[in-house]
Amino acid sequence: MKLVICEKNIAANRISQILSEGSVKQKKIGAVPVYEFPAQGQEWRVIGLRGHIINLDFPVRYREWWRIAPRNLITVDPEKKVTERGIASALKKLLNNDVSVIVATDFDREGELIGVEAIDLVKKYNENISEIKRAQFSAITKQEIMDAFSQLTEVDYDLSAAGESRQVIDLVWGAVLTRFISLTSNKTGKEFLSIGRVQSPTLALLVEKEKEIQAFVPKPFWRIIASLNKQKAFEADHEEGRFWDEKQVTNIFNKIKDASEAKVKTVAKKTQKEQPPPPFNTTSFIQAASYVRVSASQAMKTAEELYMNGLISYPRTDNTVYPKSLDLDGILTKLKQSEFADDVHDVLTHRRKQPTRGKKKTTDHPPIHPVDVPKTPLKGQSKKVYDLIVRRFLATLSEDAVSETIRATFDVKGETFKAKGYRLIEPRWKKIYTYIKSKEKPLPDLIEGEVITVSKMMLKEDETKPPKRYSQGSLIAKMEELSLGTKSTRHDIINKLYQRKYITFSPFAPTPIAIAVVESMSDCDVVKPKMTAELEKDMDLIAEGKKTLQETIDESREMLAKVMQELEKDKQKIKKNIKEASRKQNTIGTCPKCGEDLLIRMSRRGKRFVGCSGFPKCKNTYPLPQRGMIIKTDKVCEGCDTPIIQVKTKGKKPWEFCLDPECSLKENEKKETNGK
Ligand SMILES: [Zn+2]
Ligand SMILES: [Zn+2]
Repeated sequence: MKLVICEKNIAANRISQILSEGSVKQKKIGAVPVYEFPAQGQEWRVIGLRGHIINLDFPVRYREWWRIAPRNLITVDPEKKVTERGIASALKKLLNNDVSVIVATDFDREGELIGVEAIDLVKKYNENISEIKRAQFSAITKQEIMDAFSQLTEVDYDLSAAGESRQVIDLVWGAVLTRFISLTSNKTGKEFLSIGRVQSPTLALLVEKEKEIQAFVPKPFWRIIASLNKQKAFEADHEEGRFWDEKQVTNIFNKIKDASEAKVKTVAKKTQKEQPPPPFNTTSFIQAASYVRVSASQAMKTAEELYMNGLISYPRTDNTVYPKSLDLDGILTKLKQSEFADDVHDVLTHRRKQPTRGKKKTTDHPPIHPVDVPKTPLKGQSKKVYDLIVRRFLATLSEDAVSETIRATFDVKGETFKAKGYRLIEPRWKKIYTYIKSKEKPLPDLIEGEVITVSKMMLKEDETKPPKRYSQGSLIAKMEELSLGTKSTRHDIINKLYQRKYITFSPFAPTPIAIAVVESMSDCDVVKPKMTAELEKDMDLIAEGKKTLQETIDESREMLAKVMQELEKDKQKIKKNIKEASRKQNTIGTCPKCGEDLLIRMSRRGKRFVGCSGFPKCKNTYPLPQRGMIIKTDKVCEGCDTPIIQVKTKGKKPWEFCLDPECSLKENEKKETNGK
């Protein structure tokens, strides 16, 4: 019997359909689906895991936070425990026969580790396994799966060791640092704080940017803009651009403000070619997903579903160069049978000689590309993401766009103005990849020496703007540049920062506690990218077979011990900073009874409420809704003098109210509604 182990049930289902050519029966062992069919003169069974079926954790006696100093965890070896018992027992039943096993999980570190976890169980249940092989593929399509199963390879234990080292390192670092910061700041339970190997340097990037924004002092400047006219109106700027001296700009403006004519001095036309963007890898895909307003983690989740359903290639890849073996014509033929038929036609009539290519080339997976067209129309987010991937793919095969820039200068009473026009002559890929809007700015046909009308002269005051905040996409690109995390983890890190209340999504900015945490550790290596980048490099070396799992874990423990030394030295500073920031973040107004601050607090049972910081002297409290985000408004209720707060719940309109449930204004409201 052949037993095929897939990463998930949905993959198991599709792969068994392909291998059996449709003659598959689904059975269940317990609640776990198993697919059965005969092929090549043998019985086949295909089973899907649920990603990791084994979890890594500290032995029970180390789990209580208060009982053990965080630094003592550094040298404790984590234990492996089966978390998916149903799947484990289904595997055990299937192994009662003479079995050869084929691992068909996703082909990367994580997938290899998931496969090796299953192999460890398999070997435990049946010592006489005749053979264990690996099927490697980059897409769940007939061609790829058939090829993978006819050219089976060996399981790559170096690759899985690289995945395992990340698991161990992240568990130990996460536990030690998180317990340290939570215990130090006296924030445990639901509201615990965390520090992490990748998380903290990433948060530091956001804090650094926020401080630049806060420290920014806007500087005023002026511009002179002429509204000119030749058949149609267009604008020209004074050649100086920004004037920093008000007196100087006023003098010039007064000299020309009544001008009615402008003489065309020079006209220069230039045509240029614009190359389509390179194929998508994970990072550029996540960045582009923001064009269709899909967040980083949603983009990855949707892409994984599209992959499992056999519509796109594997979405976790650094590669930006199509391999020679990729059947581009075959994909175009498939896309011809879809709503992209017209775009495919455009590509085929104006196809570039070589597809575009990016800087990164790897051999594990091709860049993200479509592999099939949906049988039933996609909807919502799936459609947006699939369309984006198809359009990008088509763009990479298209000829360059051709555009024209026109630069013209004008004389107005001795002052020079300039205007720039832009128009697309041959849109080519820009017509297909419609997410990047070209700024069409037409200028009339201008002739050197001719005189045209000035319809208006304007003096505009403006000021310099603070640096821009990161977007999720630009943060992920920055993380990649600094080697923080991997293509598979970066979007998760951002989500974790949000869950820990270190950042808000709109605006994408750190909270006061995040700023305090990062500032109080600013001398420590844990908020700098260097150390974590070193560890990422070590993990790459494991995958290449140049370093062992144990060496890397031992080194990471030494690093962590050093980090803890630094942190413990600063313990008092950290404690004080976080306490102040936490108070700032939780203050929502002034107590009407005693004038002290009102704070959002947690009861012993984990319910939130508003309490007075004057406690125990002042025992004033107010109830709070248990769900939604609470936002301070700085408004005070005229009826009861308590602060007015705003509550935002996902999918609902924000809701504003004062804290006192017995406020006289609310009584009136009730009466009014009852009266109606
Ligand atoms: Zn009070
Ligand atoms: Zn009120």
